[in-house]
Amino acid sequence: MYKDTYKRIEREYESKRNLANQNFQKLKENTYNNNPRLKEIDLEISKLGIKAVRLSITSDKSQSCKDLENQIAKLKKEREQILSKLNIELVPKYSCTKCNDTGYIYENGTSQMCSCFKQELINESYSKSNLYKLKEESFDKVNLNLFSNEVNKDYQISPRANMEKIIKIAKDFIDNFEDPSQKNLLFTGTPRSR
Ligand SMILES: [Zn+2]
Repeated sequence: MYKDTYKRIEREYESKRNLANQNFQKLKENTYNNNPRLKEIDLEISKLGIKAVRLSITSDKSQSCKDLENQIAKLKKEREQILSKLNIELVPKYSCTKCNDTGYIYENGTSQMCSCFKQELINESYSKSNLYKLKEESFDKVNLNLFSNEVNKDYQISPRANMEKIIKIAKDFIDNFEDPSQKNLLFTGTPRSR
């Protein structure tokens, strides 16, 4: 079950990612069409970047490598200026900026699940557990008429009086929830259906 849920969420993340990338490509094409200089700059930056990598592998820190880095920095500055004038952020818009909708954060050679992915798994388990139905329940909805007034000989209390006692304990528990000395509550027994 967990594996299926996990796989399903992973597929949803893949679609989210693809959609963000597609939208980014569209935005890029539009921006390039309206601002051809931007396209030139991006092409130039990637060409110079490849050159710089080649140079850094083949030779030790030569002057030409420094020149390339300076040229790239200059182009990046021009790019930034154009984009800020246009008020456009030319990056994919992922719904989670921590993991870029991959569900994982890669750091120092290791990967860990992003909080957004964990939350999705929790939401899924929650909705499958029937606990979500509790949202509709409250003390106001308790129908004490369901419980008899007849005193139970074994317990010396009627089911109704017993239920009133339980409700009071539960309410007190909620009122004192922040109190560290408050003990936990455990409900046992057969649930009674309406
Ligand atoms: Zn995330």
